[in-house]
Amino acid sequence: MRTSNIPKERAKKLEFYKSIGLKLTPQRLAILEYLENNTEHPSAEDIYSALKERFPSMSFATIYNTLEVLIKKGLVKELGLDSSKKRFDPFTHPHHHFVCKGCGKILDVESRFEIFIPEDLSDCMVEDFQVVFSGLCPECKEKE
Ligand code: ZN
Ligand code: MN
Repeated sequence: MRTSNIPKERAKKLEFYKSIGLKLTPQRLAILEYLENNTEHPSAEDIYSALKERFPSMSFATIYNTLEVLIKKGLVKELGLDSSKKRFDPFTHPHHHFVCKGCGKILDVESRFEIFIPEDLSDCMVEDFQVVFSGLCPECKEKE
């Protein structure tokens, strides 16, 4: 049965977190679980409001500290696409983004397209890059 695998998968995950030296508290675990498979690119505030009912004593500092650790461990990427607040992405594989100017939604762009490293950078060692599209998401386009 499929459901019987869930505790096993969870145990495996916990083991993985331990193996990379991640100290697990119930609050940290809740943050990890909230981020898991989350494609909304949440801000620290989003995480806080999602979990504050379950953990009334949780502080912003806990969220920021946890995010910092997760970034250091390579489990989360920090996105500087939203000028008003940092947003976080648990999907750390190379992919691009679309930012909606109407609602602030950040969508993943997974399709591959060809990119040429510009000549201006020929003296640099380029390690990473990201293309940011912006405009209106389908819902905001509809409202125009
Ligand atoms: Zn929108
Ligand atoms: Mn993303």
